[in-house]
Amino acid sequence: MLRKTYYQFYANVNYRTCPRCLALHGRIEAHEDAFPPCPDGCQYTIVPFSRKELSHHKEQRRAMRIAAQNEMKRRELFNRGIALLGEDNEQAISLLSSSTRYDLYIPEVERLVKAKGDVLRRDKALRERLLKVFVQAYSDKFGWRRYERLPEPMRIAREREGIRRLREILA
Ligand SMILES: [Zn+2]
Repeated sequence: MLRKTYYQFYANVNYRTCPRCLALHGRIEAHEDAFPPCPDGCQYTIVPFSRKELSHHKEQRRAMRIAAQNEMKRRELFNRGIALLGEDNEQAISLLSSSTRYDLYIPEVERLVKAKGDVLRRDKALRERLLKVFVQAYSDKFGWRRYERLPEPMRIAREREGIRRLREILA
């Protein structure tokens, strides 16, 4: 009897995932060694499964491709937003706000503050507007389905800690 095994690549999709792992996220191969180790050291999992689970994993792949593409979109919007801060703040805030529809990561805001420290230091109103956008987005993030798996007290603690950090770096 033919017992064929397939392998699916699951990246840990976040702001640090390298473009190669994002491109592989969801890919299905007939051989495990079709996925060589990530040179950037990203976390990932290779999940083996049988032929009869193939249609389920193809379904998974569709959702995973969307997640990887959304992370690419998030990065592009966020980076364009950073670049425009100090030149066109309305457009910058609009782009940054759009990026948070996909996700928001505190280290990304830290990167923004580092890159545009001069602009932010002399513009309190701008810092306040950014803080408002990011606090709202971070709060919304913990209401999303994927965070619903976290136990309630842990979810609340993480949300509070993130918002505390946002207030600290955009004070
Ligand atoms: Zn990688």
